[in-house]
Amino acid sequence: MHIVVCVKQVPDSREIRIDPNTNTLVRQGVPAIVNYYDLHGLEEALRFKDEMGAEVTVVSMGPPSADKALKQCISMGADRAVLVSDRAFAGADTLATSYVVGITVQKVAEEFGPVDVVFCGKQTLDGDTGQVGPGVACRLDYEQLTYVEKVVELSDKDKSITVHRHLEDGIEVVKTKLPVVVTVLTELNKPRRASLPGVINASRYKPIVWSTNDFSDIDRSKIGLKGSPTIVSKTWVPEPRKIDTKILEGDNATVVASELIEQLWSTELPTRLGW
Ligand SMILES: Cc1cc2nc3c(=O)[nH]c(=O)nc-3n(C[C@H](O)[C@H](O)[C@H](O)COP(=O)(O)OP(=O)(O)OC[C@H]3O[C@@H](n4cnc5c(N)ncnc54)[C@H](O)[C@@H]3O)c2cc1C
Repeated sequence: MHIVVCVKQVPDSREIRIDPNTNTLVRQGVPAIVNYYDLHGLEEALRFKDEMGAEVTVVSMGPPSADKALKQCISMGADRAVLVSDRAFAGADTLATSYVVGITVQKVAEEFGPVDVVFCGKQTLDGDTGQVGPGVACRLDYEQLTYVEKVVELSDKDKSITVHRHLEDGIEVVKTKLPVVVTVLTELNKPRRASLPGVINASRYKPIVWSTNDFSDIDRSKIGLKGSPTIVSKTWVPEPRKIDTKILEGDNATVVASELIEQLWSTELPTRLGW
């Protein structure tokens, strides 16, 4: 069983600031982290490594500094890390990103053995589109299972997978054949911490780096800015929502509670109850 986990290095969203002049993200000086959802994909792959000896390859398209994210994955237990990095990939939108991630998975399969499962996060913390996983599945012509909150069974014998998909109105239990792209939710598991031997191993590990020249039949019209039809016409920081606040005062809690009930009764409560 060979599992690929797609990871993206993203700016830590807790530290994100917007440049008021350009209205773009200030990335300088903002710490970079592994996209949170992708750690859950990695944890699930590592679970199958522990349980059935699956081989785990992590892949990322990004700048050279994204090797830190990949080393973190190695420290947690991934077997191999591939960074796809080239100036020609810069400016990629989700269409171009899914093309490059797709041909990377294909090349991983050619060089290191057939791929059975590709785990992606449901979305990233920065781009946040949730389009790359399904895009990769389409490019590879693999089955796709999105919004997965539980993998019930992964069978090497049957070459099948059974999952719970979290839908708006319930849980869908789906079984499908491999190979498959699975996009995961955070409910799936709790990502492990790196072990000390893992950290030592990662400190010595050098991710495999592929550039455009390593892909013999890459279509250059599909990568980077050239391959990105999306146009970002404007970005802005939404105004904080103004909420009317009223502070109720009284001699004791009972008085304040009665006043609160009075207020709710006279305003929105009957409407909310449909009266
Ligand atoms: C015109 C344009 C130019 C852009 N230029 C840049 C740029 O120069 N630099 C930049 O960082 N962003 C750029 N972006 C943003 C870029 O489009 C997205 O970050 C990227 O396509 C991934 O989309 P997303 O973050 O919404 O991923 P989602 O679809 O939300 O991600 C879902 C999952 O897909 C996988 N995934 C996503 N991205 C990668 C990746 N790179 N490698 C491996 N797996 C991945 C992960 O598992 C992730 O959890 C640009 C966007 C546009 C529209």
